[in-house]
Amino acid sequence: LSFSSCGNLPERLQENLEIAGYELPTPVQMQAIPAAFTGKDLLVSADTGSGKTASFLVPLVSNCVKYRLGNSSDQKKPLAIVLEPTRELCVQVEEQAKLLGKGMPFKTALVVGGDAMAGQSYRLQKGVELIIGTPGRLIDLLAKHDDIIELDEVFILVLDEVDCMLQRGFRDQVMQIFKSLFQPQMLMYSATITPEVEKMAISMSSRDLICVS
Ligand code: AMP
Repeated sequence: LSFSSCGNLPERLQENLEIAGYELPTPVQMQAIPAAFTGKDLLVSADTGSGKTASFLVPLVSNCVKYRLGNSSDQKKPLAIVLEPTRELCVQVEEQAKLLGKGMPFKTALVVGGDAMAGQSYRLQKGVELIIGTPGRLIDLLAKHDDIIELDEVFILVLDEVDCMLQRGFRDQVMQIFKSLFQPQMLMYSATITPEVEKMAISMSSRDLICVS
């Protein structure tokens, strides 16, 4: 099974996958990519090293690029958000996102602690498709710049490492970000699916929820 059989991917995305050396989809990619393209919400049980990052980035990049090419607006509001529990994970996700989105209308902004907020908000104002951040910093940035950062076009929210997010006490912050969006498609990933993870996933799902393990 190839990446192109997982969904109708932009040609440039298929080239970028080849350039990255991703010849065949991993098992989690084979399951999660077609499932994400159905437009339903996903709760995926996946470990680091399984290829889980590309399993959400492939449909995310694909759908954002298709949206951007189909809507000729000067205003480039963010279309997707990936939330990670740590700054390091955000940096890794951004690396892969840049690789997969190369040569297409797909820009990213990191919203993490440790860097100046001014630079991050400037990048957002210039227009990006994807925000990758930690919950606390994104909330701080929104509180400070709610006049310029508009999230009303965000249609995909990825929650990575949900078990870890809950352990770190990010539940309320994640919920606050979710509530500021308009029923985005939810792509949720967790190494372990505990009852708490399941409860959170159900509470954030506004459509059919597919479980992938
Ligand atoms: P992840 O589980 O997302 O942390 O990915 C683990 C590693 O596998 C990363 O370094 C990716 O670059 C790599 N990777 C992801 N998907 C594929 C694939 N289909 N083929 C080869 N390598 C991949």
